[in-house]
Amino acid sequence: MSDVADRAEWRIAKDLENAMAHARKMPQLVADGHCHYCDEDVAHGLLFCNTDCRDDYQNEQKALRRAGR
Ligand SMILES: [Zn+2]
Repeated sequence: MSDVADRAEWRIAKDLENAMAHARKMPQLVADGHCHYCDEDVAHGLLFCNTDCRDDYQNEQKALRRAGR
């Protein structure tokens, strides 16, 4: 069963890498149990309740950035 732990560690390192690359493009979001767009309750660790909310949020952020925030 030790290779499961090894794989988990690899996944975590990989996820961190992805998250860091992502964070440079996106403002840092903290998963607080609520959708960042509509405030709906979401499962632990999720930022949005569905892909529509995620897309709308990202469009909003893009618009804000374009407006020179
Ligand atoms: Zn939502």
